[in-house]
Order: sequence, then C-alpha cells, then structure tokens
Amino acid sequence: MSSNSSSLSASSAPNQANIRHDWTIAEVNALFEQPFNDLMFQAQSIHRQNFDPNQVQVSTLLSIKTGACPEDCKYCPQSARYDTGLEKERLMEVEKVIQRAKEAKQAGSTRFCMGAAWRNPRDRDMPYVTEMVKEVKKLGLETCMTLGMLSRDQAVALKQAGLDYYNHNLDTSPEFYGDIITTRTYQDRLDTLDNVRNSGMNVCSGGIVGMGETTSDRSSLLMQLANLEHQPESVPINMLVKVKGTPMENVDDLDYFEFIRTIAIARIMMPKSYVRLSAGREAMNEQMQAMCFLAGANSIFYGCKLLTTSNPETHEDVMLFKKLGINSAQTKAYSDEAHEAALLEEIDDKANENLFYDAATKQAEPVSS
Ligand code: SF4
Repeated sequence: MSSNSSSLSASSAPNQANIRHDWTIAEVNALFEQPFNDLMFQAQSIHRQNFDPNQVQVSTLLSIKTGACPEDCKYCPQSARYDTGLEKERLMEVEKVIQRAKEAKQAGSTRFCMGAAWRNPRDRDMPYVTEMVKEVKKLGLETCMTLGMLSRDQAVALKQAGLDYYNHNLDTSPEFYGDIITTRTYQDRLDTLDNVRNSGMNVCSGGIVGMGETTSDRSSLLMQLANLEHQPESVPINMLVKVKGTPMENVDDLDYFEFIRTIAIARIMMPKSYVRLSAGREAMNEQMQAMCFLAGANSIFYGCKLLTTSNPETHEDVMLFKKLGINSAQTKAYSDEAHEAALLEEIDDKANENLFYDAATKQAEPVSS
C-alpha cells in the first residue's frame, strides 16, 4: 500500500472487506457513462486502497504449443479454420520450456505463463504439462497455464503439480459470445473456471475488447467476472489485435478512452484483483499505457511475443517503468542493461537507415543533417 493512500477520503471507495458480487448491468453502464476524470479518480482511489500504485506485476507468456486449434474463436490466429500464415508448432520439449523460464526470470518476470492452443489437454499431454509446472516452480517462479477447457481431474492434477494460476478467459459478454465462438459454450467456460477454483488454484480470467461489442457487452463481461462467487485473482483485459486472415481483421477500432474506461471499471468492481494490461499493448504509446496504470492496471506481460502476436520489447517496458517510477527497486537492478539494449537498438535502426559511416567496410554513406 502506498503511503499516499491515507490521504484519500474513506468515502471514495467501498468497504474492502466487503467485495460486491451483485452488480447489475444498469450500475455498470452508469460507471461507463461517468465523466472520464471522475471515473479515473474513483478507480485510482480504490487502487491505492488495495495495492501499491507504483508496483506492476510482470509475467512472461510462452506458447508451448502453437496453432492448429480446432476451435473457431474469430479473433484468434491459432484457429485451424483461418489462414493466417501462422507456423504451427508441436508441444515444446520440457527442457526448452525451462530454458525460456530461466530467461524470463533474468528479465525480471515473477510469473511464467505457458499457453497451448488446445480445445482441452488430452490425457496423454498431462504428464508433460505437469512436468513443466514442476520444473518451472523449481526456478522460484510462479506458474500459470492456459490449455483450454479443463476437467475436474485435470485441474486437480495441475494443482498437485504446483500450478499457481490457470487462465481461462470469458472473452466477452454472454450476449455477444455467439458472434465470436460457436465451438464451446459460455457455460463450458464457467464450468472450467469452477473446476479450477475448486481445485484450489488461483483463477485468471478476463476478456477481449474491441471485437465490435457494445458498451453494454463490456459491462456485461465485467459483471460476469465480478459476480463470480470468488472474483478472479487476475483479470486480463485484452485489446483486440486484428490479425490478417481472421474474421476480425477489419473490425472497427475501439476508441482508446473506452479501453481505459474498461480497465478503470474492472478496477472498481474487482478491487483486489490484479488487472492485467494484456494483448494490444504494442499498439499503445507510453502515455496510453501510463493512463491504463493510472486507471488501475497493475500487471503486464514482458517479452516480445504474446503467444503469436507481438508485444513491446522488454527493455522498452523497463524504460517506461523508469520514466513512471514503477517497480523502481527492480528496474534499478537492470537499468544499465536496458539502457544498453535501447542504445544498441537505436544504433541498429540508424545503421539500417544508412545514416552511419560503416568503418568496418569503409563504405561511407551520406549522413543526413
Ligand atoms: S483462443 Fe484458444 S481456443 Fe480459441 S482458437 Fe485460439 S487457441 Fe483455440
């Protein structure tokens, strides 16, 4: 908790011992209709009562099995139904996963998330994924997986292997859901969340905005999440990344303020959950990301790839954190490396623009003024 939190009026946030699970659609729509500054103030006030406002949790996401998914999620380049030119990959070997987890830890991640493009894991996959969990845990990282639908037994097996979090998104509102996915029902998703919760694992569940849904659909998605018996510990809010070849490649852009509002309202309704700024972050400039942190987002993914779509380079995140004074204890430790990486990239970019004299090949290129 920030020392600043004491200066906030007690009436600006709900009683934290009393998280609400009875939100109505009218109430949530009313939050969306508030003036932007009022909404941001309310979200930031609640954020400060529950979290250190200058700390952002960092996870790394690795695709352990890519593409060829039988499901038809219209936003997803990994569905076998869409021609997106994605290179399919079989289940990654455990050793490779461990190597990537070590790199993630070195880059400052505290949680390692492993994602497989499956409808659900088959029983013959389970020994491999449980082995991955055990080995990543040994590195001292928190573990998270997203493998599709889970049976009760599979959830228990993952829990016993030491899995800390299971991600399974609701994606959108129940009302809009049929426009996005037809190969599994909303209830299937809720059943998986139940199995995860009952196994004792933490739940990571959120959705995607910018798929052509209405404001009321965004309200309804947040209402579903907040009204679960236990709110998810982690709530990823994704901005649609429009991938060529998917049915969503030409959907209209969502106004960024609407995205920030969604984050803020997630923070207000789920005051103790980590709200994760997830897919779509690469398209956001630093100021937009800073607004999302102000709205209450306090978790991100590090690394240049989010399963199959790109994500800002790690050193760009470190530089942004430094500018904002976020995670200052950690960023200090590897700030020099980040500076060096940023500098090298800049030099590389410049070299590619033919602006430098290349001493190695003695080829003088015109230097622009
Ligand atoms: S979102 Fe998941 S379940 Fe849906 S197509 Fe993509 S990988 Fe498959």
